[in-house]
Amino acid sequence: MKLVFATNNKHKIEEVQHLLKGNFKLLSLQDINCNEELDETGNTLEANATQKARYIHEKYKVNCFADDTGLEIDALNGKPGVYSARYAGEERSAEKNIEKVLAEMKGIENRNAKFKTTISLIINNKENLFEGIINGHISTENQGNNGFGYDPIFIPHPQPLSPRRGERSFAEMSMEEKNKISHRGIAVNKLVEFLNKLKT
Ligand code: IMP
Repeated sequence: MKLVFATNNKHKIEEVQHLLKGNFKLLSLQDINCNEELDETGNTLEANATQKARYIHEKYKVNCFADDTGLEIDALNGKPGVYSARYAGEERSAEKNIEKVLAEMKGIENRNAKFKTTISLIINNKENLFEGIINGHISTENQGNNGFGYDPIFIPHPQPLSPRRGERSFAEMSMEEKNKISHRGIAVNKLVEFLNKLKT
């Protein structure tokens, strides 16, 4: 069965395709000739993921899923949350987003935060939501160069085992290590488990 992942991020597509059984062929937005930027005008991750999935389902009449992710920091009342990508402005600069968060967190003791991913799947005309959450805290400076987005300042709890001393940020882990414990990894695993149980 063909299934559209409402993204053009090749890395995300590969990751999910790798986990799916052979009876699913994942397609990107490009693959279905959708070259527009999808609206994300909701106030929650669930609303945005659902908005994107419904749009693709209605316009292209395909089974599909969409995701949305946010970093929620307790001391900032859950911000940047649904605005994570453009927290420091429309240019969506990861560097500037991090600078803004670190400035707002200066001198704040409670650094607890979580990453949350929501996936909205529409298959056989039914909607299903999957969620993944990883708790952690915000470091006081950048740590590491791997990954993307807020990875250099997010220290996940619990930490994966490592011979190295000290707590590591997501940006100090390999992609495999991060995927095993991450918000997206957890949500994707729930999606994959659901899909692999479906009779296609
Ligand atoms: P998206 O919904 O996957 O596009 O994520 C929205 C924004 O959240 C991204 O632009 C990043 O700033 C941030 N983000 C999402 N996932 C991660 C992650 O795994 N690590 C760090 N930042 C992330």
